[in-house]
Parts: sequence; C-alpha cells; structure tokens
Amino acid sequence: VKSRGRNGFDFFDPTMEAKSLERILLENELRKAIEQKHFQIYYQPKMDISTGKLTGMEALVRWMHPELGVIPPNRFIPIAEETGMILPLGEWILHEACRQNKEWHDQGFELKVSVNLSARQIYQKDLVAMIRQTLTETGLDPKWLELEITESIFVKMEEATCVLQQIREEGIQISIDDFGTGYSSFSYIKSLPVDTIKIDASFIRDVHHNQESQAIVKAIVTIAESLNMNVIAEGIELSDQVEALQQNGCGLGQGYLFSKPLAKSDFDEYLRMQ
Ligand code: C2E
Ligand code: CA
Ligand code: CA
Ligand code: CA
Repeated sequence: VKSRGRNGFDFFDPTMEAKSLERILLENELRKAIEQKHFQIYYQPKMDISTGKLTGMEALVRWMHPELGVIPPNRFIPIAEETGMILPLGEWILHEACRQNKEWHDQGFELKVSVNLSARQIYQKDLVAMIRQTLTETGLDPKWLELEITESIFVKMEEATCVLQQIREEGIQISIDDFGTGYSSFSYIKSLPVDTIKIDASFIRDVHHNQESQAIVKAIVTIAESLNMNVIAEGIELSDQVEALQQNGCGLGQGYLFSKPLAKSDFDEYLRMQ
C-alpha cells in the first residue's frame, strides 16, 4: 500500500497486485536460474556486407527455463538490471562468450565477439578488474572482444566515460548500440571513447524506400568517418536494405538476412559452411 492519497493510502489496485505477484515469481525463478546457470548464449553473425565475409558475432543470452522453455532477454534483463542480478549474470555471460570465442580461435576462426553490457555493469565497482580477470582466465586476446553499450549508460557522463577509457586501454573495443534513438546522440558522440557505431534497426527497417532513413544512415556514416569510427547496421532482413546501406557507405551488417542468433552447435555448423 502506498502512503499517498487523501486519507493517507491509495485504493487497492488488483491489476497492480497481480503484476507484482508475477514479478515476484519471475524474480525468484531468475535468482534460482542464475545459481543453476540455466542460460545459453546464442551467437548472431556480423558480416562485411560487400564481401559476405563473417567478421564476428554478437552474444545474446537466453534463459532456458526447465518448464517454461526459452525466455527471451527482453523479459528478464530489465528485472536483472533492477535487482542487481545483472552483475553475476553479466559476469557469467562475459566469461562464457570469451571462453567460447577462444575455443573458436583455437580452431582457426579469427572472430571478434561482441558482448552487451548494461548500464548497471558500467557502474559496478570492479568492472575493469573483472573483465581483465575473465580475459586472463579464458586466454582470449582482448582485441577479439568488443563490448556493446547504449546511451543509457551516460546518466553520469564523466564516470561512464572514464570506465570506457579504462576498458579501451585494455585493448578491448567499444560499440555504441541502438545509435540514433536517444535525444542527444549527435551532440555527444564526438566526446565518447567508442570504436564503432551501431545504427539502430529502426533506421534500417525502411532504408530501402525511405529517403529520411537514407539521409540518417549517410549522416551517421559521415560522422563516423570523421571521428575515425566504424559503422554497422543491425536488423537487416532484406537484400534491398543491403543495397541501400552500401550506397550510403555502410559496410558492416547484422540481421536475419544473414542469420538469426544461433545456439553454439548451430554456430559451429555455420562456421564449417563458411
Ligand atoms: P540488442 O542488443 O539491440 O540486440 C538485437 C536484438 O535484435 C536481438 O534480440 C536479436 O536477436 C534481434 N535481431 C537480430 N537481427 C534481427 C533482424 O534482422 N530482425 C529483427 N526483427 N530482430 C533482429 P534479442 O536476442 O531478443 O535481445 C533483445 C535485447 O536484449 C538486446 O537488444 C539487448 O538489449 C538485450 N540483451 C540480449 N542479450 C543480452 C546480454 O547478454 N546482456 C545484456 N545486458 N543485454 C542483453
Ligand atoms: Ca547489442
Ligand atoms: Ca541494438
Ligand atoms: Ca536494444
């Protein structure tokens, strides 16, 4: 009961109650899942779109619930972030992705793995030490690791920038995800220690028949070039989109057209077909 309202309390709201119950259940399930490591990393190929060559892959986590089946990240990452469970979960994801990529490197595949980092992790006290230790433990060369962040990490601009700088000093790359969706993207990009800009899928969806989306892609490519950054497009589903991206100078891409995110065994098979 909230201590608002005229006589001190709000009326009982059954929908709120129902939601919070479901939420409590999910939270408990998530806590157990983290202890028992009921997760799998899927890998989505990233391509050089003009040569069709594989350059790396994005690690995307899935919750494999014993009764409910596969639970997508949009349903549990926000809860993990709010509760702080993203810290142990994020550490497990990073470790697993680095370990796996090292295995692929040992098989002769020179690929870069991209791991999503949530805002909460950036403000974690020993993040840089944890990353360094993960690389040491797994034996992966830092140049084969990239961390994807979103603008949401810049609530405390100076602090976040400082953490990113330390990460880059380790030889790890930084990519800014969902670029163009925030209000201030263009005004702050020049001061960010990032290597790659990932153009948000919303601009890719209609890029083959919408001049405004083309103009935005072109503008992002121009800015990236002048700042010495790379550009990648996400959410590519059609070859027409590839053509429009190439015409506007974007050479890297990711999306269902090339491949969905794949479980480890399917990614193995994908690698053998390359
Ligand atoms: P994101 O980082 O923007 O990841 C891209 C999402 O788009 C992924 O969804 C991917 O499967 C999906 N996608 C890729 N290509 C296409 C396409 O051509 N068309 C469409 N419609 N979708 C495509 P997913 O795996 O469900 O992940 C959703 C979000 O959950 C991610 O968005 C990211 O914000 C978060 N997430 C996923 N894995 C992790 C993780 O390991 N750690 C953290 N902190 N967040 C994660
Ligand atoms: Ca991402
Ligand atoms: Ca994205
Ligand atoms: Ca996103």
